[in-house]
Amino acid sequence: MSTTHARRARPVVAIDGPAGAGKSTVAREVARSLGYVLVDTGALYRAVALAAQLRGVSRDDRQAVENMCVALVRDGSLSMEAGAGAAPVVKIDAIARTDELRTPDISQGASVVSRYPLVREALLDLQRSFGRDGGVVLEGRDIGTVVFPDAEVKFFLTATDEERARRRHGELVERGDHSTFDSVLAEVRERDARDAARDVAPMRPADDAILLDSSRLSIDEVVAIITERARASVRAE
Ligand code: C5P
Repeated sequence: MSTTHARRARPVVAIDGPAGAGKSTVAREVARSLGYVLVDTGALYRAVALAAQLRGVSRDDRQAVENMCVALVRDGSLSMEAGAGAAPVVKIDAIARTDELRTPDISQGASVVSRYPLVREALLDLQRSFGRDGGVVLEGRDIGTVVFPDAEVKFFLTATDEERARRRHGELVERGDHSTFDSVLAEVRERDARDAARDVAPMRPADDAILLDSSRLSIDEVVAIITERARASVRAE
């Protein structure tokens, strides 16, 4: 395990994987059942995309987005309150923006701005600050590879494209969004391709991550597998 920090009494649990693999629901339930803090790192990238929109910065202008993001983090204008088992409260300029982060347009925007090296770097310390002492579940794309390569428990959650699109579509419909299944499938595929192909911190399983295909497992089954692994890592100390 790590040589870079004192042994943590409780593990860092990293859950990575593509869009719609069930990471958010699973991470929330795992955090709840273990009493750990939940950190949805995608919300930070979404917040950068939303901040660009609010400030009239084109998301395709790498340098402008990077400058904006560095300033946002430096000035404390971007903040996230991670709670146990609840969606994080993300604030931009002290205003909570949580609901606005979940639209298909901001999903795509997040995937565009997350390719920019200085954006990723600016958000790194923020993500690490939540997990340093363990007792935390972080979900994202590069938690096991970059943010916490020394995480004690690492999972990479996948599911077929169709299954992931079905889940994402269900969530959107529930929220009153009228996207069609086909548009969601296309959106999910486009985002994954971009996330996996980028130069910096591409989405991929860490070498020591456990791959879990959730297509044929219930949420409860996936939660039980991850929770058991986290408990076993505490017992192994
Ligand atoms: O997980 P979520 O769908 O909220 O993530 C939105 C986008 O943020 C992803 O498509 C990805 O581009 C980016 N992201 C990332 N690294 C993370 C988490 C999210 O690049 N750790």
